[in-house]
Amino acid sequence: MIFASIQRKSISFVAKIDRNMSLLRFNMLERALEQRAVEVTPPSNNPSDYFGEKVFGRKQMRKYLNKQTFEALIATIENNTPLTQDVADAVAAGMRQWALTHGADHYCHWFQPLTGGTAEKHDSFAEPDGQGGLLEEFSGKVLIQQEPDASSFPSGGIRNTFEARGYSAWDPTSPAFIVDTTLCIPTLFIAYNGEALDYKTPLLRSIQAVNRAATDVCRYFDKSVERVFSYLGWEQEYFLIDDALWSARPDLVQTGRTLMGHEAAKNQQLDDHYFGAIPSRVLSFMKDLEYESLKLGIPLKTRHNEVAPNQFELAPVYEEANLANDHNQLLITIMNQVAKRHHFRVLLHEKPFKGINGSGKHNNWSLGTDAGVNLLRPGKTAFENLQFITFLVNVIAAVYKHNGLLKASVMSATNEHRLGAGEAPPAIISTFLGSQISSVLDKIENSKSDEDIRFDSKNVFRMSGLTQIPTLLRDNTDRNRTSPFAFTGNRFEFRAVGASDNCAEAIIVINTAVAEQLVEFKKIVDAKIEKGEKKERAIYETIREIIKECKPIRFDGNGYSDEWKAEAAKRGLDCEVSAPLNFDRFTDPKTVQMFSRMGVYNKVELEARAEIKREMYVKKIQIEARVLGDLAMNHIVPIASKYEGVLLDKAWKLHQLGMSSATDRELIENIQNRTAKIQTLVAEMIECRKKANRIEDIREKSIAYHDTVAVFFNTIREEIDRLEEVVDDQIWTLPKYREILFIK
Ligand code: ADP
Ligand code: MG
Repeated sequence: MIFASIQRKSISFVAKIDRNMSLLRFNMLERALEQRAVEVTPPSNNPSDYFGEKVFGRKQMRKYLNKQTFEALIATIENNTPLTQDVADAVAAGMRQWALTHGADHYCHWFQPLTGGTAEKHDSFAEPDGQGGLLEEFSGKVLIQQEPDASSFPSGGIRNTFEARGYSAWDPTSPAFIVDTTLCIPTLFIAYNGEALDYKTPLLRSIQAVNRAATDVCRYFDKSVERVFSYLGWEQEYFLIDDALWSARPDLVQTGRTLMGHEAAKNQQLDDHYFGAIPSRVLSFMKDLEYESLKLGIPLKTRHNEVAPNQFELAPVYEEANLANDHNQLLITIMNQVAKRHHFRVLLHEKPFKGINGSGKHNNWSLGTDAGVNLLRPGKTAFENLQFITFLVNVIAAVYKHNGLLKASVMSATNEHRLGAGEAPPAIISTFLGSQISSVLDKIENSKSDEDIRFDSKNVFRMSGLTQIPTLLRDNTDRNRTSPFAFTGNRFEFRAVGASDNCAEAIIVINTAVAEQLVEFKKIVDAKIEKGEKKERAIYETIREIIKECKPIRFDGNGYSDEWKAEAAKRGLDCEVSAPLNFDRFTDPKTVQMFSRMGVYNKVELEARAEIKREMYVKKIQIEARVLGDLAMNHIVPIASKYEGVLLDKAWKLHQLGMSSATDRELIENIQNRTAKIQTLVAEMIECRKKANRIEDIREKSIAYHDTVAVFFNTIREEIDRLEEVVDDQIWTLPKYREILFIK
């Protein structure tokens, strides 16, 4: 009788706390479960009916510009011919006229500052007419250049040393587009003295550098080549989670990743998500996103489930690198907008959840001539294959010489969770070529050129081995998924890029390193030719030397194995896993020399980039440390203590009744130890943060944040996740992995 009444009392007491404490979690869970697919029906089943309709592309230019203006603009786009003020005015007028037909009332210079993401400042077309009224106007002057008040964007000190101003300047090679009712003009963002404050400026410079160097080398093979393009095809991985559940996770809201959370019993073990049927809510989102993207000229082609629950991927058809990168940046903006319509949030963090795959962005990269020849595709004749091998080998050499820099270009506080953390890809850059190409290179390396190179009676170049490549490649399916830089038949696939990265960071390094290598290659070949060597033999001999020289970068084995780590260190490859130390590569003498020789970055710009990377690193870790500390102290410890109180109450009563409370005591001790440990660790972490904050030098500070602050994250989390296992589910406030990760 007494026992029953005590029990009833304590239950009603607990139930009251439950309702208050975990109200948000249960409400949000209810909301998430109630969501249904939001159907979106494009006006036509034929994407070609609306593809590019919101872009001021060639078709629109032809319609809205007169012939003279159109031709002048095309000359600027294709040959960099300067635009006169008159032409700029005429282009602006045509652009505005076109934009008005789409209901645009504002315009903006759209640029990519070093914060990541894109920036836009909208201005109305309406200008005062001087007589108290308004006049719709858009002149060539404002199309070409603007001075946004952008003093809050990171400049790495560039703007402190010179004028504080930053300018945005029109990039006519990437067409203007309309989002909502705003005409967006892709622009560069530069300082007063021309130094780059964005990603686009150095990307365009690197595209120029590799164009020049590759065109020169192409002319050994085809005198008519005028231009070489770099191409990029990105594959964007992302997570989708329900909006309501996202809003109940302060860590996701503030840092983009979960700083705590016990793994769901069923994750990706069964591989049942990968390429599985796409949930209907998600499919509607994807269709909507595709519709919006296609209208903006983003040629999306592929969509599928990824390995982890709630993880997906999309990919367009590859495009010229500058345009492809603009499209990736634009897609990210659109994705977030469309997701909200479907009550989702997009997570682009590289590791939002523990225990399941993170998200990357494979960058498929290649070079092609103005005649449409892909320089990384094997040809049909020995001569064509000599060209293919020339480019292949020079790319490998470029990656070898700058492997540390290439890794640094995609390293960040967020991507650090993927690189080197036992997840695709490893933190050591190597190239995978597959067995056929490897054996061709081995053959060249070990051949004596006199035996392998012949000229037949008509003086046609012959080379044993090289004529065979195309047939062999057709069944080159043995793709090595652990390789960060893999040759995949007609392109290289750089897989270390993070899901949230701006692709330009990687492409700038690849283009510039390849440009430098091709210049070097040409110098050597020309010297041989000057000494009387036949051109083909000079090329072949030089290739042979390069193959020998860059052998350490070639690795076809398992990139995750410990043996590879040891072997790579022996080979002298960059094995550093700490992000702040990786950033040192930006200012290595050989980096500075490469970028300045190729006209992509000067030393000041490189120092600025390294500084910004370090600042961003510190800020991100600082935010994570604060959020983790707060959640630990004001969610986890109070809830666990409450539950501990209930158990103490129970144990005391059991004791009063003369019953055993041994298992409850064990649980109480477990909770007590863990909450005590969390409190101690959080206090220590705060101390370390304070100490790190006192360091002036940004390099030292970022190292301190890496070595002394971030190291607490996993240990604190471990205690929290263990508590999640035992504390009453009814009072746990944060949505759990098993709830967040399985959209129906
Ligand atoms: P995966 O098997 O790696 O998923 P996909 O066939 O889906 O590869 O292609 C991935 C990306 O590679 C796509 O964006 C595609 O357009 C791009 N791609 C294909 N060929 C090239 C090329 N020559 N240069 C650059 N990107 C390319
Ligand atoms: Mg791929």
